[in-house]
Amino acid sequence: MSGRPVLVINSGSSSVKYRLIVPGSGEVLADGTIEQIGESGGEVSHQVGDETHTGDHQAADIGAALQLITEQFAEHGPDLDHADLLAVGHRVVHGGPDFSDPTMITDDVLAAIRDLSGLAPLHNPSALAGIEAARERFADVPHVAVFDTAFFADLPDVARTYAIPRGLAERHRIRRYGFHGTSHQYVAEVGRGLQPGAEPDQPLRQLTFHLGNGCSAAAISGGRPMETSMGLTPLQGLVMGTRSGDVDPGLPGYLAREAGLTPDAVDTLLNKESGLKGLAGANDFREVLRLRAAGEDGARLAFDVYVHRIRHYLGAYLAILGGLDQVIFTGGVGENSADLREAAVAGLSGLGLVLDQELNRADSDQARVISAADSPVAVLVVPTDEELAIARQTADLVGPPTSR
Ligand code: AMP
Repeated sequence: MSGRPVLVINSGSSSVKYRLIVPGSGEVLADGTIEQIGESGGEVSHQVGDETHTGDHQAADIGAALQLITEQFAEHGPDLDHADLLAVGHRVVHGGPDFSDPTMITDDVLAAIRDLSGLAPLHNPSALAGIEAARERFADVPHVAVFDTAFFADLPDVARTYAIPRGLAERHRIRRYGFHGTSHQYVAEVGRGLQPGAEPDQPLRQLTFHLGNGCSAAAISGGRPMETSMGLTPLQGLVMGTRSGDVDPGLPGYLAREAGLTPDAVDTLLNKESGLKGLAGANDFREVLRLRAAGEDGARLAFDVYVHRIRHYLGAYLAILGGLDQVIFTGGVGENSADLREAAVAGLSGLGLVLDQELNRADSDQARVISAADSPVAVLVVPTDEELAIARQTADLVGPPTSR
């Protein structure tokens, strides 16, 4: 059964990413992206083996994008009608209080996900549209929802609770949910296999930093989540590409009174106009690095604030875990920027973190240790693979556990 592929679909607000993958071996049969859905000049890219096929498209919505995906497979392969598809796995950002595991999608489940849209207005509606279109197109195979919040479903009460009136919190399902769970869980699992000198099943205290367009940190003990930086929504915590991360909770009220902003305008400001973009004018980390190297003040400040926030969480989570065995960097920034990793742990030898500068700067896309051999805390880079994790969780739900 591990030979049958899973189609993983990740529907965002203006793009759909997809991957046809064999969950057991991790073999990628095809990989693609449809960008700028609903805009003119959209781009589609479909990769099979070493060949990448790109083109323009006019997909007006996610339904049209799904049709386009079908056409890409028909034109460039593999032929989906003869691929013996095991299932379709969908990434869903918010699972709310009800979904703590991968879930077979039924009409009732779809209605429950729709009911959560108030908690994730920027994310869940596009996932729903993707699921609806995919269920129509692939009507004969099971569809599974894998939730970004699931790994953090059993965060300890002290970590999940905001200090606001309890009745109100219960009525409106207000708690800290955490996001990027699939990624944190995946890199922590890979990291456990790389811990220098550890027995295979030795419980570890791990701190994982997922640093991409969205950024979050998680404290993990013995494979269980103890804390994470995102909360009710994916806005809390670290500085991100366009999201502010932590601000004073008094800020939205202040902006409403002083600047006349509506709740929606505040949401847009903090989610889409802040973070690196707000400070440096660029949300792409590579561009921030380029502007910083060119001596731009805004980019220098953006980099420093970004790093400062990471160190803030590093210290906090070290205290929560009562010590550390591993720090893991992942995501586009965490995997690729040696400068960022160096700045994040600079001067922390007193806490047991000592980088090996050469290993940190080595050119590699493999999971690897980048700390000095005698560093008490291991520092790792682990490339995340959310699609593989979603494919495996999907396959595990649909059939017997994948052999790997
Ligand atoms: P992700 O959301 O995981 O795809 O990460 C996207 C972020 O990773 C963007 O801000 C990119 O600028 C950043 N990124 C990708 N490659 C590099 C690189 N070589 N150096 C620094 N940042 C990078």
